[in-house]
Amino acid sequence: MVRCLGELVRHSSPLALLSGIVLSSVIGIAAEPTRMTDEALTLHRQSFVFDGHNNLAMQLRKRPDLTADSVDLNAPQSKLHTDIPRLRRGGVGAEFFATFVSADSVKKGTAVRETLEQIDQVVRLVKRHSDAMEWAGSTADLDRIHKADKVAALIAVEGGNAIENSLVVLQTYFKAGARCLALTHDDTTEWADAALDKPKHKGLAKFGEQVVTEMNRLGMVIDLSHASEETALDTLSLSTAPVIFSHTGAHQLAPHPRNVSDDVLKAVAKNGGVVMVNFYSGFLTTETVKAYEKRTKAAADLRKSFKTDEQFQIAIVAWLKEHPLPTTGVKDVVDHIDYIGKVAGFDHVGLGSNFDGVVSLPQNLEDVSCFPHLTQEMLNRGYSREQVQKVLGGNAQRAFREVEAVAKRNSGESATTAAAGGGE
Ligand SMILES: [Zn+2]
Repeated sequence: MVRCLGELVRHSSPLALLSGIVLSSVIGIAAEPTRMTDEALTLHRQSFVFDGHNNLAMQLRKRPDLTADSVDLNAPQSKLHTDIPRLRRGGVGAEFFATFVSADSVKKGTAVRETLEQIDQVVRLVKRHSDAMEWAGSTADLDRIHKADKVAALIAVEGGNAIENSLVVLQTYFKAGARCLALTHDDTTEWADAALDKPKHKGLAKFGEQVVTEMNRLGMVIDLSHASEETALDTLSLSTAPVIFSHTGAHQLAPHPRNVSDDVLKAVAKNGGVVMVNFYSGFLTTETVKAYEKRTKAAADLRKSFKTDEQFQIAIVAWLKEHPLPTTGVKDVVDHIDYIGKVAGFDHVGLGSNFDGVVSLPQNLEDVSCFPHLTQEMLNRGYSREQVQKVLGGNAQRAFREVEAVAKRNSGESATTAAAGGGE
């Protein structure tokens, strides 16, 4: 029997509180384990699980007690959602580890340095655990690493701000090991509108189009998870390679701006891309979206009421304990898989946990050991073995392979290396 554990996680950034990336300490709920069948466990073991979004790198940057150079991922890490024993229990084949810099770092002029340092930290972290993990830069790497019974660690950059309007910086991230860029995070960039910010460009600005074209040329996966609907539709019609939404859901089931409309789902099907379903409870149901909005407003109000971060943290932790998000379960995540499968097709849906970036998670999906519960629920709903394997990771692998094929076709074309000089 597989059992995953609830976790207790503590974060400290008030900005992150507002953006919904991380929240202050909330005690995980100890859920009753799902009854796992031999059929589900066997199918899960035979599958390749490709998780589109894991925030371990952000945790290790924020925690003085657990740094990328000190943490022992071979040992159980009770303050994290991710460690090697649980990755193995979860049957995880590949993780996209996200690096992230705030919009403030762009204003301070430290975004590029901070991003490169984080990429380097992930590379070093993975090297220190080379008996169980390896950095992956291609689908050939994914196959090789999986055959060696290790976890493939891919690197993503979350937020186009990090390229500071320069294609040279984008190319530098690729050379340093990143294989995915989310065009925006929560802030609209100088060239792309974000889902949670005011639009400035009606989607992608001219330089944004150059970024998309350059990512197609490089063989870098385009992530539209935090992008506005207009940015997503512009990118989907422009990109010659499949895109992903590394951690999002269906707007029709949970009306949050981070979730995507049916129009976008249909465009993803045409593009060949994959919507990788986010596990964060706040984006899963109409009820939790409402509670999440209340929580965001409370955090903003409390922020205004307290002068110091410390006072604010105490107040918000108390508020969150009194106002937990409504409980969600594995079925809520599979509802999104169902819906996206029906609208876009089961070739266009995958998994994007958001582990180590959020604390309100569905029961039985509390950490990286829990992926088998999704296999069980999909089988319970009558999915074919092929459909289950596509959702677990087959679709993401196929999309990455097509991104590489497009880059190979473009390899004769010369790179555009001019800096943007600001967006329009
Ligand atoms: Zn995110």
